[in-house]
Amino acid sequence: MSSKPPADPPSAATGPPTRVTRRSVLKATAATLLAQGPASRTDASGVAQPARPHVVVVGAGAFGGWTALYLQRKGARVTLLDAWGPGNARASSGGELRITQSKLYASGAMYTNRDMYRPVYMEMVARSTQLWQEHQARWDRRLFHPCGAMTFYTDADRSPRDAAAYMREVGARVEELDRPALERRYPQINFDGVDWALLDVDGGLLRARFACQEVLHGFLAEGGTYRQVGVESPSLDGSGAGSVALSDGSRLAADQFVFACGPWLGQLFPGVVSIRATRHEVFFFGTPADDPRYTEDQMPICSDATMSPASAVIPGGEHRGMMAEGGPTKVRVVDPTTVDRTPDPELAAFHREYLGFRYPGMKDAPLLLARVCQFENSRDSNFIIDRHPDAENVWIVGGGSGHGFKHGPAIGERVAASVLGETPVDPVFALARLSRARA
Ligand SMILES: Cc1cc2nc3c(=O)[nH]c(=O)nc-3n(C[C@H](O)[C@H](O)[C@H](O)COP(=O)(O)OP(=O)(O)OC[C@H]3O[C@@H](n4cnc5c(N)ncnc54)[C@H](O)[C@@H]3O)c2cc1C
Repeated sequence: MSSKPPADPPSAATGPPTRVTRRSVLKATAATLLAQGPASRTDASGVAQPARPHVVVVGAGAFGGWTALYLQRKGARVTLLDAWGPGNARASSGGELRITQSKLYASGAMYTNRDMYRPVYMEMVARSTQLWQEHQARWDRRLFHPCGAMTFYTDADRSPRDAAAYMREVGARVEELDRPALERRYPQINFDGVDWALLDVDGGLLRARFACQEVLHGFLAEGGTYRQVGVESPSLDGSGAGSVALSDGSRLAADQFVFACGPWLGQLFPGVVSIRATRHEVFFFGTPADDPRYTEDQMPICSDATMSPASAVIPGGEHRGMMAEGGPTKVRVVDPTTVDRTPDPELAAFHREYLGFRYPGMKDAPLLLARVCQFENSRDSNFIIDRHPDAENVWIVGGGSGHGFKHGPAIGERVAASVLGETPVDPVFALARLSRARA
């Protein structure tokens, strides 16, 4: 990976970890201000901010990587840190492929409190899709395959029709296809038990771990600094953080700290944020030789709501084979650092049987690859973007809850604007709503 040499940036103080006090915070901020000269600016709440603050972002997954990029682009001096690297095999962003689709949000699946969150997520998906495409062109790297995302239904399913109407209302492109239309368009699929389908035309595949690495390259090219190092949980006494302790024994000082640590957030901030990491598995099955029918050029992502348990199939992007996910749910809470990632053979057998039924050309397809990953669930399955309640300059960003990857670019823009004081914290993603929900 091309990154800057791991030399400490000027504000990194080495030596044994020391206790963070109000005095040390003020000293660190003053030192940064001095180094930058007298120039300062005022944020949205009228508070003076250094002209070029140093921001440390911890976590180079979908949320942290894009946040670092946008902070850097908005003029901050940014150091991005990750214990194992962007899109590493333990990270929630470390899979091969992730889906982007707005019908998930139009229908209200995956998250709670639809009335409040639906317009927010719809806008974020649209913005992120635009930014995925823009960065794909800017970096000349394939990040997104716009193959569409379709869900199969029976006539008994009425609510997806409302979702389609909502999508049209907000300008998202959607098609409702009846059985004859489906059979004409996708002869490689067996539509037994399917009456109709909803196609989210702007949906598609994102190259997950590859994209995290490309975001890092983009960030470095724009002047950011990256170090592969772990960060310890900060001890906060109400006066803010001046520096954080690193796994190499040194400390790193900054004006602001953003912790975008996915499924690790709950361990880093116990009692402040509750994140439940639950195990999920995806399987890649080999398509027949010389047969393009199961690639993203010839079929969309297909979720099947006619069967229980429901499954989703992603066409053979990245030459990995056809990816299958979902199936029987066994809720298993895991530690993302230590969980054994041996795939479950029963789940693999379930997906092989399903594929053979719905995609007859895939009958008895060999299993090529499997990935065991985890969702990082917030209490209400909605994202968290807020300051730590005991430290104004410490930010917590996460709670992707199994649907966060696609939003990386829009999250990055939002977080950067809040950290730099341009926009206030959005109450829909604030921590307070979670404690209110519990009360
Ligand atoms: C099987 C599966 C399928 C999914 N499908 C979809 C989908 O189709 N569409 C979608 O939008 N989303 C999907 N998701 C969810 C999505 O992948 C996540 O919501 C998103 O990737 C979370 O990104 P993150 O940056 O918050 O976390 P992560 O990617 O986990 O990044 C956190 C980073 O922080 C680093 N870190 C942690 N602790 C420390 C520390 N103390 N010091 C330094 N570094 C640290 C880690 O190494 C890691 O790189 C899926 C998830 C899974 C598991």
